[in-house]
Amino acid sequence: MPVPLNIVEIQAAADRLRPGETCRLVCPECNDPERSLAITRREFHEAAYVCFRNSCGIKGYVYVQPGAAAPEPHTLPKPEGFSGFSGTLWGLQWTRALALAERFDLEVEDIPGHILDAGYPWLALPIRDAERTLTAYQLRWSWLEPNPPIPKTKLFLEGSRRTLAWYPPRAAWKPERVLLVEDCMSALRASRHADITAAALLGTQLTAAHVQELHAAGTAHVVLALDPDALEKAFELAKQWGPAFRSFRVLAIEDDIKDLPLAKLKRLLASI
Ligand SMILES: [Zn+2]
Repeated sequence: MPVPLNIVEIQAAADRLRPGETCRLVCPECNDPERSLAITRREFHEAAYVCFRNSCGIKGYVYVQPGAAAPEPHTLPKPEGFSGFSGTLWGLQWTRALALAERFDLEVEDIPGHILDAGYPWLALPIRDAERTLTAYQLRWSWLEPNPPIPKTKLFLEGSRRTLAWYPPRAAWKPERVLLVEDCMSALRASRHADITAAALLGTQLTAAHVQELHAAGTAHVVLALDPDALEKAFELAKQWGPAFRSFRVLAIEDDIKDLPLAKLKRLLASI
């Protein structure tokens, strides 16, 4: 792997990033004015860089000085029956992040901070409440690997609190209107492709605690989009909780939001 001549510039940029952040630079190797060099600060003490210009293609890692902002590797208790799980979470390797981004029509910059490495092929999804406070990790068998064991997910609470998994849109934080979906990837994908705040129920239950959480965040309008096999359940929940909000709509969808073809997903989200 060729080493870029000006690694110092890459290092300086990496040192300014917080874990999970990405920046684009004019590549010091090929000087492509399109800022073809992406530097992503992985969780903890590493940053990955790659130049997207085909004829250049430099890539590699730099060590980031452990600063006050850098969290320590996070250790989870080893779950029973989960073989191959190291118990420690790290930033996702570039190639795995790229494959996930392609699989779900995301930008690779959407992956850091939302999906962590928990020991191949397990992934960990940080669950954050409406204030962006980490409340849990969901351990999940990678979507890219066949034959998930049953169960394919397991939840680890950070404290005593279990919350919805909130995904703000790219632009401003807008909790007045929330798209509720079953799982984290659907929520992440929806929030990236529409200017809407999405939250994952981590299942098909909408509980009184969830409703309180939505009220506390200032949510007045709810759109509920459960997976197609749970449509009846969605209508039951609308009947139960609809009166607690200014509006409460159920979206009937023909496939899970994370699996809908992109054009269909965009049409669906535009209708909300
Ligand atoms: Zn380059």
